[in-house]
Order: sequence, then C-alpha cells, then structure tokens
Amino acid sequence: MQEKVRVIVAGGGTAGWLTAYSLVKRLGTSLDITLVESDQIGTVGVGEATVPTMHRFHQFFGIEEREFMRATQATFKLGIVFDNWGAPGESYAHTFGEIGQSNWLVEFHQYWLEAHANGFGGKLADYCLELKAAQAGKFAKSVGETPLTYAFHLNATAYAGFLRQKSEALGVKRVEGKISEISVDAETGNIQSLDLEQDRKVGGDFFVDCTGFRSLLLGDTLGVEFEDWGHWLAADRALAVQTESTEPPPPFTRAIAHSTGWQWRIPLQSRTGNGFVYSSRFCSDDDARATLLGNITGKTITEPFPLKFKTGRRVTAWHKNCVAIGLSSGFVEPLESTSIHLIDTALVRLMRLFPFAGAMEPLAEQFNRDTRTEWEAVRDFIILHYKQTQRDDSEFWNFYRNMDIPDSLAHRIEIFKENGYVWSDLANLFRAHSWIQVMFGQGLFPKNCHGASRILPPEALKVELEKVSAFVDQNLAKLPDHNDFIKQYCAAQN
Ligand SMILES: Cc1cc2nc3c(=O)[nH]c(=O)nc-3n(C[C@H](O)[C@H](O)[C@H](O)COP(=O)(O)OP(=O)(O)OC[C@H]3O[C@@H](n4cnc5c(N)ncnc54)[C@H](O)[C@@H]3O)c2cc1C
Repeated sequence: MQEKVRVIVAGGGTAGWLTAYSLVKRLGTSLDITLVESDQIGTVGVGEATVPTMHRFHQFFGIEEREFMRATQATFKLGIVFDNWGAPGESYAHTFGEIGQSNWLVEFHQYWLEAHANGFGGKLADYCLELKAAQAGKFAKSVGETPLTYAFHLNATAYAGFLRQKSEALGVKRVEGKISEISVDAETGNIQSLDLEQDRKVGGDFFVDCTGFRSLLLGDTLGVEFEDWGHWLAADRALAVQTESTEPPPPFTRAIAHSTGWQWRIPLQSRTGNGFVYSSRFCSDDDARATLLGNITGKTITEPFPLKFKTGRRVTAWHKNCVAIGLSSGFVEPLESTSIHLIDTALVRLMRLFPFAGAMEPLAEQFNRDTRTEWEAVRDFIILHYKQTQRDDSEFWNFYRNMDIPDSLAHRIEIFKENGYVWSDLANLFRAHSWIQVMFGQGLFPKNCHGASRILPPEALKVELEKVSAFVDQNLAKLPDHNDFIKQYCAAQN
C-alpha cells in the first residue's frame, strides 16, 4: 500500500481550517494531515461576508446549510447596498440575482436601455427578485420553482471553530505552538519541517501556508515576491468593531462610502460587524476611529480592532512543495467579500492538481496560471467601484477618479461605453449582471445600446417588460420576512 502524503497546514484561521477540512474530507484516504497554529498569535478575526459560490463549496464537502448557519450565527445575504459611491447621497445595490431574461445575443439591460430611450421601463431593480427582496427585507431559498441566489454573513471565529471540530473528528491532528524557524532542504529548496519553540519539529512532504499576512512559508522562507497593487487600491488599514443589533438583520451587507474610506455593516443573528477601510495616505488612524464610531448604530461590544494590510498577491501562490492559501497568498480589500471565495477556489484547484507523486512543477504552473487570472478579474471589479465615481469632495476620491487603471479594466469599460456589451468570463467570479449593476449604479452608461434590443416595436417591448416585472412582484409577495425565515430555518442558540 502506498504511504500517505504528509501534509502540514501552517495556520489555523479560516484558511487553515478550510484547508484541513476539505483535504481530509475528500482526500483523507491518501493524505495524513497535521495543522499547526499558535493560540498566542491568533487569527485576523474578520471576514464575515461571502459570495454565493460558498454553497457549491459546502456541497462539495458535505457541509449541511442549517448546521453551518446555526453554528456561525449566519444570516442570508442577497447582495451589497452601496451608499455614496457614485456620488454623496446616492445609493444602489449589487445583488446576486439575474436581472430580467437575457438571451444568447444580448443581456436584459439592453432591452431596458431601449425602453428608457422610449420613455418607459422603470428601474432596473423592478426586474430582479433578489434586488427587490433585499430592499423589502424579505427572504426564502426559493419561490415555487424559482431559486434565489444568495450568500451568507457569518461569524468568522465560529466558522473556524466549526471547521476545526469537523476536521479533528475526521482525523486531522492539531499541534499548538509558535513556528520559530522553517527548515529547507539545501539541495531541492523544498520545505522539510516547521520548527516550533521548545525544540519541537513538524516534518512533512507538502506544506500549505495559511499563516495570514505573515506568509511565513511562501513569502518569508521561500522568498516568493509580493506584487503590490497599492497604486490601484490604496487602502492599507481597517478598523473593526462589533455592535449590538438595533434592528432585525437585513439580507444584505451595507458598504457606506465616506470622504476618506468606506464602512462595512454586516448583520449576524447575534450582533452586527462594522469596520472602516481607509488608506494611511489620506486618513489618520484617529480620524478613521472618529468616522467609524460616529457612524455606527448600536452599543459597541468590542474595542475597535486595528488591522494593517497590503493589497496585492504573491506572484506564484505555489512554489516548490508549498502552496499559500488565504491571506498568505494575497489580499484584495473586502468591498465585494471575495477572500473566502478565493480560499475555496484555491482549495478546489489544489485538490484537482494535488501532487501525489512525481514532478510537481507542471502542476504548480497550472495552479499559478489559473490563480493569477482569477485574482486579476477580482481586482478589476473592485477597482471599478473606486474609479467610476463622480465624487470630488476629498483627496481620496480625487486620487481614485484620476488614477490609471489596469488595461484589462480600461478595455472592459471602453467596450461597455460603446454598445453596452458586458461579458462573463469563466475565471471571473462576477458575471455580466454584477458588472452591469455596478456600472449603472455608479453612473456609467453606454452611448448606444445593441441593435437587437430593437427587435420588438416599443409597444410590444413594453408589454414584455411588464410581464417580467409582474412576475418579480408576484414572487416578491410570496416571500417571508428575512428574520422570520431565519428564526424557523436556522436560529442559533445564542
Ligand atoms: C479588514 C478585513 C476585512 C475582511 N472582510 C472579509 C469579508 O467580508 N469576507 C471575506 O471573504 N474575507 C474578508 N477578509 C479576509 C478574511 O478575513 C481572510 O481571508 C480569512 O480570515 C482567512 O485568513 P487567514 O486564515 O488566511 O489568516 P489568519 O486569520 O490571520 O490566520 C493565520 C493563522 O496563522 C497562524 N500563525 C501565524 N504565524 C504563526 C506562527 N509563527 N506560528 C504558528 N502559527 C502562526 C495564526 O495562529 C493563525 O491561526 C477580510 C480581511 C480584512 C483584513
């Protein structure tokens, strides 16, 4: 019988425990997994909003939705409401739902634009169930045959604990201790062991770096360079604080732009997570604190907790016998809640390419290629929110409005301006409907719409659009209140 590959996971935050759990759950017969974490160092402790792909990941790994939601005090998330982004006082939502009915030739928004050119059509929101449900504070997993597209808000610390319990039950060994040295084979350049304080060593064949921003294995030890994206995404600080809830949890995250940064509000069953993301170039820590504490609702239940970060990624996430997953591989600010998604997709990729035997290089190369494409697509989507603003009320917004953007994003915007065409590419988490909601929401409209949207005469187009919005309204009327749904479906104990 072939010996099991010894996998060492360094770090026990969300990334570490997601790694340990998914590996043991699906490859446990071939892998022997040990996770090392330091109670003294702790985890980043934030990361509470997600995107809909989390379902599929949970399905792959047998995580039952109700059990997970109860354990993490989770609520449902239909999208994000962006306040003051296009201009102060304006608000729009980016929800996960489909808008209207698209076809192979044109997306629905083209018909809506044509309708507007003819003086009817209402709001884009009228054609999206998730958008209207978010606004109305309603939720169900489906209405009749129509499923809703949703994600979750969750307690990050509870999520790591939940995954730890499941991982240990399946045989993952946990070692508590601080990694003080990392031994590397002088000939191959591969990592051999993690050397802990008090002369303890944890040796293995394959290492997963989940040590957070420290990137102890991939960055510090193997010297893989960091590609800095700070010239496009200037935020490098955040301040997080938890508050008591003052209202039933709405089924969306709120992202409120201020003159020197933006604030998140994430509703859980038990409390609300709040934070302020800002750039040390444009805002002092004291001002950040005043902005955050001046704009929260509810009594604080934790001390404001400061976090420092760099935006960008390690140029190769897999090098030698080490792959970085989570913050150790890079970070893009949490505006669209993408980090846990990037952990999940990296894990699926790693498991498909896992080096059970033989040469590792071609597997690593494929992993790195796919990772780059995926991260750059997320980066571009986040930059769009900043670049596409009319705000000129601060140095912060003037910087973003005037900055150069990646060619890939500039190209996407140019095409959209020309005839409204938006595409979904496979590597891109964000589909055409996401791009459209943010582009329209921030005041970016095409000069022309696609000719195919004029296939129907205006009167007939009006009838068709009314049918779609009536269908949305009928479904909306059947949805229960979000909080009532949570209470009967997945109420947490505390
Ligand atoms: C401000 C902010 C907001 C965020 N919001 C979101 C969000 O809404 N949605 C989302 O998806 N993501 C979000 N994220 C990202 C999310 O928090 C992380 O992706 C996620 O928590 C994973 O972190 P991690 O496990 O990689 O690192 P960490 O949580 O930092 O864990 C690192 C682990 O490494 C261990 N470790 C480090 N050094 C040593 C050592 N020397 N010896 C032993 N152990 C060591 C620590 O003990 C810890 O267990 C946010 C991040 C930030 C900074």
